[in-house]
Amino acid sequence: MTTPPIDTTVIEQRFLAIWSELDGIGREPDPGSGFARFSWTEADFAMRAWFVREAEALGLAVQRDRNGNLWAWWDLPSADRSDAVVTGSHLDSVPGGGAFDGPLGVVSGLLAVAELKRRGVTPTRAIAVVDFTDEEGARFGIPCMGSRLLTGELDPELIRSRTDGAGITLAEAFAAAGVEPDEIGADAELLASVGAYVELHVEQGRALGPLGEPLGLATGIWPHGRWRIDLVGEPNHAGTTLFEDRRDPMLVAADLIHAARRVATEDGGRATVAKMIVIPNVTNGVPSSVTAWLDARAATDEHVSALVSRVLEVVDASAAEHRIDVAVTNESFTSVVSFDADLTARLDALLGGVPIIPTAAGHDAGSLSAHVPTAMVFVRNETGASHTPLETAETSDCVRGVEALARILEDLAGSRG
Ligand SMILES: [Zn+2]
Repeated sequence: MTTPPIDTTVIEQRFLAIWSELDGIGREPDPGSGFARFSWTEADFAMRAWFVREAEALGLAVQRDRNGNLWAWWDLPSADRSDAVVTGSHLDSVPGGGAFDGPLGVVSGLLAVAELKRRGVTPTRAIAVVDFTDEEGARFGIPCMGSRLLTGELDPELIRSRTDGAGITLAEAFAAAGVEPDEIGADAELLASVGAYVELHVEQGRALGPLGEPLGLATGIWPHGRWRIDLVGEPNHAGTTLFEDRRDPMLVAADLIHAARRVATEDGGRATVAKMIVIPNVTNGVPSSVTAWLDARAATDEHVSALVSRVLEVVDASAAEHRIDVAVTNESFTSVVSFDADLTARLDALLGGVPIIPTAAGHDAGSLSAHVPTAMVFVRNETGASHTPLETAETSDCVRGVEALARILEDLAGSRG
């Protein structure tokens, strides 16, 4: 019996219904400021509840793993989950994030499954749609937390006592969500059941637009890291304290910010200071301390470390000049990721030849890629804006993405080749 064709009208109706439902979850207080869906907060719980409802309505079996990642399984009659085809992404956001980064991949996965089911497709490999915990690292500063705990790349011992902005530890946040903090960590059995991972994601740059292409595939992910730089000086009066008597850490922070841009421009990488904590943060006082975070990315691991070293040389020189104490902590580093060439070529042929582009953003697919054949599909983002409410994707492109994912799942799960 032949199955009926993919119906993009049905996909579009379902997509729009889900998108308007999710639109009300986790909005920032100011209208137009985007979303704040941090892990294990009310907004995240609401997103997860939606995922469970949607998956169960499709007849999928929902599993929450030891790291809080949610898996929606389309099981075989044999209940064999080995060599499963897995797709998904994350439902959490950065502060003031857009609607697409993360949720588009999860929603597309569920819609692709829905379309296969509607058409009566019978898979020969189990299929799962996954929502990974805390991909953005917005709450605890640990990006791709759920996927890196799963693979064992992240040592739970080192992160349980990490605190969020309100002083709540990661262990407390997991426990409050009903996930046993002593149990988090590598899950070799679950990971071994994943035969392939394909993540669909909104494009986080502007490569596809000028090419006139709605979809692309990723070659890999640039290595990237985060460094915390603590600059400690001496609090004093902004009016009465002579310049020569000051130890002002803000001056070093300013040099850091400019050095990041200048060095990265010269090196062809990317370096950004986008978060700072100023103590005491008052208008008329020289700060006692400034903590700044440096985000650095480039084409190779060596390239990133050379870039960061050059920036820190500038910081050290500036700190010496202004008599500031400096402490540098590398909070995270993710090596270069190359996606599976065979799988990517197979998807490229299936999609009829699409642009294959690199990305400078981290993804859960990067965590999985060292362990299972992994590929990424990008959906065009006309503005190129990312991690802001301006991030966007046309509905017609999102529908193309779901259609592509449905064809990918059918191709991969329909044979053991
Ligand atoms: Zn993302």
